[in-house]
Formats: sequence, structure tokens, C-alpha cells
Amino acid sequence: VGVFFRPVEKINSVIETYPKGIAGFRRFTELIDTEPDIEDAPDAIEVDHLRGEIAYRDVSFAYSSGKAALKHVNLTIRAGETVAFVGPSGAGKTTICSLLPRFYEVGDGAISVDGIDIRHMKLASLRRQIGVVQQDVFLFAGTIRENIAYGRLDAGEADIVEAAMRAKLDDMIASLPDGLDTMIGERGVKLSGGQKQRLAIARMFLKNPPILILDEATSALDTETERQIQRSLAKLAEGRTTLIIAHRLATIRDADRIVVVDGSRVVEEGSHAELLKRRGHYRRLYDAQLASNS
Ligand code: ADP
Ligand code: MG
Repeated sequence: VGVFFRPVEKINSVIETYPKGIAGFRRFTELIDTEPDIEDAPDAIEVDHLRGEIAYRDVSFAYSSGKAALKHVNLTIRAGETVAFVGPSGAGKTTICSLLPRFYEVGDGAISVDGIDIRHMKLASLRRQIGVVQQDVFLFAGTIRENIAYGRLDAGEADIVEAAMRAKLDDMIASLPDGLDTMIGERGVKLSGGQKQRLAIARMFLKNPPILILDEATSALDTETERQIQRSLAKLAEGRTTLIIAHRLATIRDADRIVVVDGSRVVEEGSHAELLKRRGHYRRLYDAQLASNS
């Protein structure tokens, strides 16, 4: 797991839009360094308190290589719904999720949130409504408090403590001599993979966005830690529209809906039980994963 450190003051100016060139976001933002920033249209609107109802209408997209990464994707996601995306590697799952915070612009078609085309929104205001949790957690050299507050820089002490508690970081913090003031990073305490994940979850409780994108970790955590993190993520997802790029059977089963992506297209969607009965793409993925787990 790559962890990069940067002084906190460099980050303040970019917190509202996703930081560029920072390891934790790089997989989502590979092209952001090389492509011009997306500029707000003069009449772009500031959005706040979105309910998180999401619609993809005939969305197609190609990266600059020109090869299609998404073809005619149609999806309607209700406010508060948890949708898991599954499918083979390279199918287009990450691309679907990357278009929502406008890490890339839709080629054809449109994405709307609460009925508003995301291209008509001020980019920073859209991104304030979306939280992203990935397996590579971005940490910087600073205190645990500062690293949690990265979720929302104007947060007060009580909010930070509460976020740490909800992410179940409180026991770990209590065991450290300097508590929240403990330095992490090159010259501080080294956090375990599970603790890093919890820190990322604490940031999201603090940011409190109506929309969440979770790119699940596939490795690095032992089974018990993984199960606990899973429970914390489920708590975090409560009451939010959640898009999960899923690798684990447990997540898939609990999602309100499963969307199977294959060859740049949505090929199936439904609940776990519905899709198992259908004996199509999902059933094949499911059986293959069961076989490889046993
Ligand atoms: P998944 O998440 O399902 O594994 P992705 O959405 O990452 O699939 O990838 C879909 C397709 O787009 C693949 O062919 C992949 O090689 C390509 N792709 C993904 N990211 C980029 C990128 N930053 N630049 C160019 N092509 C990309
Ligand atoms: Mg992916």
C-alpha cells in the first residue's frame, strides 16, 4: 500500500476539489495531471444538500486512447440506495464511478444528480457532495487529528472526536501517549492497514457527503479486521447513496442492487437472489468466486 506524505499547508488550497497528483487518488485521477482542469461554465450552479438520486442516461465514454471504456450505460440509482458494481477486470466499473465526480467528462449521454446534469454544477460543489474511499489511503506527515480533519478542514474538536469514535478509531487513539496529537508518518507512529482504512472512514463521517464511492480493498487485511472494516463501511453507507466497486461476496449480497458490468456495458442488474436465479453473468461470477474461495 503506497503512502505518501506532504506537509499539511500544501493541501489546504486543494481540499475542496480532489488533490491532484496525490497517490491515494491517482488511480481515479490518472489523467487529471495531464489534462486541462475542467472549468465551470459561467452559469454553473452551486449545489448543496443533494439527496443523491443518480441517473446515467445513455452514457458512453472513451479514454484518450480512443478505445471505448463505456457503451450506452443506463442506470437509475435511488437516493440512499447501495449499488454494487461487479464484473471482470477492465470491464468499466471504475470508469462508471469516476465519471460521477467528473474525474473525466462523459463522452456521450448525461449523468444527473437530483435531476441536475452534473456538467451544469460547479465542480467543487459537486465534489463536496461525494466521498471516495479507496484502498490506498492518503496520509500526510502530521497528527492523527490533522489527518482526520482532512475530511473537512473547518471541523471542530467535538466533530473530530465523534468521527474517530464512529470509525472505531477511539480505542487506538486512547492507547497512544499523545492521543489525537500523535504524529503519524515518517517520523511518527506507523499505522496498520486496518487503522489507515479507519482513518479514511473517519474522514468520511466528518465530511458527511450524501454520496459515497467505495473502491473495495482486495488484500492486505486479515479476515477479522476486514470484517470489522466492512461493518464500519456499512454504517458509513447508511442513509447515503453508495456506489461500491465490489470484490467481496459479502458486500455483493448486502447491496440493494447489483450491477454487472462486462465489456464496457451494463449486462445485468438486480438483487443477489434475483441474479442467482437468472443463471447469467452474475451466477457465473458468483460460482467462480465460490470455487476459488474453497
Ligand atoms: P474495471 O474497474 O472494471 O476493472 P476500468 O473502468 O478500470 O475497469 O477500465 C475500463 C477500460 O478502460 C479498460 O480497458 C482499461 O484498460 C481502460 N482504462 C481505465 N483507466 C484508464 C486510463 N486512465 N487511461 C486509459 N485507459 C483506461
Ligand atoms: Mg477498477
